[in-house]
Amino acid sequence: MICMICHDSNVQLIKICFCNESLVCESCLKKLNFNRTDLCPICREPLRVEVVNDSGKKIKIISKIIFFILLITFVDIYPIFYFISINNETHTDSLFYNKSFQYVASTLATFIVLPLLYFQLNNFLINRRPIRMINKDATFYITVLTIANLIYSIVLSVIGQESTFFLYYFASIIIPFYILPFGIMIMNILSQYLQNVIDFIEDYSKINLIQSHETILI
Ligand SMILES: [Zn+2]
Ligand SMILES: [Zn+2]
Repeated sequence: MICMICHDSNVQLIKICFCNESLVCESCLKKLNFNRTDLCPICREPLRVEVVNDSGKKIKIISKIIFFILLITFVDIYPIFYFISINNETHTDSLFYNKSFQYVASTLATFIVLPLLYFQLNNFLINRRPIRMINKDATFYITVLTIANLIYSIVLSVIGQESTFFLYYFASIIIPFYILPFGIMIMNILSQYLQNVIDFIEDYSKINLIQSHETILI
């Protein structure tokens, strides 16, 4: 007798289905369970499957989510609001030195633009099926943004906060990580919409004409 999947012989075999051929070895059974197989790989009949919750896995993933939320909060969101709050407003003639503008710009960037970019990169605006918690593009964006914010905060803490701090934040964080990607995202959506309109016009203006082979007179 051999395993019907890997064809190994001299191993303990487990019968998983009514069909006679459904003999698999232990390691193949593990793989089937890992892939959440619920149909017999031989005859495609439903297998008897007991589904149990793995609380260890659940705790692991919830801790990961909490860790990333805390990380983003304390590196990408909290520092800039702290720097604005301790800023001694000296001259308010320019927008970048104006405390209200600093709060509004940071709030828009971190609470509106950041989530929208995250959803767009994670394909959530197109497809709501949870295949992955976070995809490569969104991971890359969050990682680079967090590193940039960390460097900005460290530099500002080391050299001391000067009145130009928000100008540097705007140039090094808001433009490259919020305005530029958001602009690209909007352009992308607009161009896709425009393509849809063009396709619709093309499709709508087509008519069907069946060509005759011959004309018969009765
Ligand atoms: Zn096997
Ligand atoms: Zn079977």
